[in-house]
Amino acid sequence: MPPRRAIEGLLSARASPYKQSNASHLRLCGDLHTGYGKANFMAGFGGLFSSDMAIDLGTANTLVYVKGKGIVLSEPSVVAYHVKDGVRKVLAVGEDAKLMLGRTPGSIEAIRPMRDGVIADFDTAEEMIKHFIRKVHRRSTFSKPKIIVCVPHGATPVEKRAIRQSVLSAGARRAGLIAEPIAAAIGAGMPITDPTGNMVVDIGGGTTEVAVLSLGDIVYARSVRVGGDRMDEAIINYLRRQHNLLIGESTAERIKTSIGTARMPDDGRGQTMQIRGRDLLNGVPKETEITQAQVAEALAEPVQQICEAVMTALEATPPDLAADIVDRGVMLTGGGALLGQLDLALREQTGLAVSVADESLNCVALGTGRALEYEKQLRHVIDYDS
Ligand code: ADP
Ligand code: MG
Repeated sequence: MPPRRAIEGLLSARASPYKQSNASHLRLCGDLHTGYGKANFMAGFGGLFSSDMAIDLGTANTLVYVKGKGIVLSEPSVVAYHVKDGVRKVLAVGEDAKLMLGRTPGSIEAIRPMRDGVIADFDTAEEMIKHFIRKVHRRSTFSKPKIIVCVPHGATPVEKRAIRQSVLSAGARRAGLIAEPIAAAIGAGMPITDPTGNMVVDIGGGTTEVAVLSLGDIVYARSVRVGGDRMDEAIINYLRRQHNLLIGESTAERIKTSIGTARMPDDGRGQTMQIRGRDLLNGVPKETEITQAQVAEALAEPVQQICEAVMTALEATPPDLAADIVDRGVMLTGGGALLGQLDLALREQTGLAVSVADESLNCVALGTGRALEYEKQLRHVIDYDS
């Protein structure tokens, strides 16, 4: 597929609704999705001289997309420090640092700089951004890169300035920002520049961002502090209350991603999983079996809150755009969208058609990357100066 055709498909006002043509539309943009297709042939020339980048700075994971190449890095947003006499020294960043979470001795501190969709620790966030940029930036290139970073829709001017500053001090020539819901929708292959309503629900680690887009801009966006972390907490609390069993965050996450489900299994039990934790009654380690039905019960509240956020958004959307959404359905992106049966639960509770985006964990990075690849056409979604 020649690049022009691909971008025309992305921008065309005549592109058919993704509900009916999801497969073909995604195929149309497929070259861009992988980042290795013919569409990047042109971008390759630019790539000889710079490695312009797009960064998805998520609460749970940070992804880096290099122009002409696609996603080259995807690591947990975690930094581990060695602390001695009050002085912190970076010990590990990303995957290695995540392994240390919850397992650190007194001299080591593992930090997630982003919490609830906002930067909780500016210095650590800057440290992390710099580390990842250095990791992928080829020093042999002639010029400093241009970097586009995706920020939550609700980021404050102070946060935006801090992110821009971190990127510039990491060696960028220019720093642009793009709103997360727009990036998620582009990455999911939605025809965002059409004069029709499109709803995208990005379920990340700290937040769920619900947005309605039309004509390439945000009509409505709201962020609720419910996401993957809240689901993990719900599982921890459930096991503590119902089974007097204490488990850590990483065990809770493993339960969620292995047998987590948003709906009660039909047989009232579903799959099972062996887990280990500490018995709160006598303090000793204990192994027990947990069923999918128990996990569904534990996750009922966060799932309900996500459904409510979608309903609230629909109520706040102007009637014609709301009608488009009823017609086209809702697109789910982010890691939380992978929770078992979440699409079905949402469909049952809201009455809307719900699809989970292909590569939902990568959508925001792919969308930010595509804004970089097709900057001329998508210039209005990138903010270089606020
Ligand atoms: P962020 O953008 O905030 O960094 P991501 O979109 O990367 O977040 O999603 C990360 C979240 O998705 C984590 O809370 C993770 O546990 C969750 N997640 C990943 N895979 C699954 C899965 N299969 N089922 C449920 N949750 C998942
Ligand atoms: Mg995200």
